[in-house]
Amino acid sequence: MPRPNPYRPYRPCPEQQALIPDISGNSINGLDETEPRPPRYIYWNDPDKIAHGALQRWFYHNDPDNQALRLARQDRAAITDFKLPPVAGPKPEYDNSNNTTELLEQVKEFDFEMTGITAMKPEFLYHNTEIDHQWVVMIAVIHDYVQISEAPRDKAGAEVVRQYGRAMRGAMQTAAWIRNRGYDAEPHTGPLAGKLLMIPPAIACGFGELGKHGSLINRQHGSNFRLSAVTTSMPLKPTEAPPMWVDDFCINCRIYENACPPGAISPDKQLVRGRRKWYVDFDKCIPFFNENFGCAMCIAQCPWSRPGIAPRLSKKSPAGTRKTWHFQNHRRMAGAHRLELWTYGFGDRRSTN
Ligand code: SF4
Repeated sequence: MPRPNPYRPYRPCPEQQALIPDISGNSINGLDETEPRPPRYIYWNDPDKIAHGALQRWFYHNDPDNQALRLARQDRAAITDFKLPPVAGPKPEYDNSNNTTELLEQVKEFDFEMTGITAMKPEFLYHNTEIDHQWVVMIAVIHDYVQISEAPRDKAGAEVVRQYGRAMRGAMQTAAWIRNRGYDAEPHTGPLAGKLLMIPPAIACGFGELGKHGSLINRQHGSNFRLSAVTTSMPLKPTEAPPMWVDDFCINCRIYENACPPGAISPDKQLVRGRRKWYVDFDKCIPFFNENFGCAMCIAQCPWSRPGIAPRLSKKSPAGTRKTWHFQNHRRMAGAHRLELWTYGFGDRRSTN
């Protein structure tokens, strides 16, 4: 029996309520649509071009005096000054294998924690966009768990901004290195959405599997990371990883369903643009997200995100016995996690909200 959630019942503040458009964000996202189609922009875009643009503006102007967020955003803005070099010539006589080895060696010099590679696919792109590159290099940066555990306070929001900055710098450095080798390359970085979706290529390159909270779960870091990417014409070889069977775990997990203040996380997969998948209700999530520094409670409270837990969970998923293992062990862990959460986490947060 879950404890009562101190953030519920949640109602968006009147200022935000006045900005909510008539069209549902879930409709734009293709919830309940039976046919596959590319996604359309719903948020993190030019606010004049999206139905929820007024809400997005409100997010950036809410709490303008917050010191932690202001400093983190200033640092991130400085990174956008990075100047990409032109594509150098001539190209080296290397094949995809050499290129991949050298790239994976080079990125150890850069400030990010994970790198993966996958071939470009049409389903990685937003509606009506094109990228004339054959390969996607995915990049991931890890949050400081202590900071992200403060969600939904400003410290967690500032940590997310900082990590998006690091992801941006990593993508720019990687694209610059590839260009200096004679191949075209473009960075694709948050927080605003570009042409490239982040999660589908991240799954394809072996970073992880989609969890019930609509974010990736990785075998080392759980959901405690952010993504950026580089697309390139440099021939590469794909990376991959064995299955983690995250569904077996998420199906029994109730932690963030119960913890999510507006109840945006559904217990079951939903039909979205022709595919059944875990899905976060955009209309419920975004007002709380806006009012609470980008929230991120679902990422912080995912059991896989706790340092040291994901490797243990992902190791113990042998085919055949995995369902029993996950169910039994998850129930035990979920109880322990919940205890800590309610003892130290929500009590503190409630006092500041
Ligand atoms: S980010 Fe959204 S889905 Fe996640 S806990 Fe917060 S309100 Fe819920």
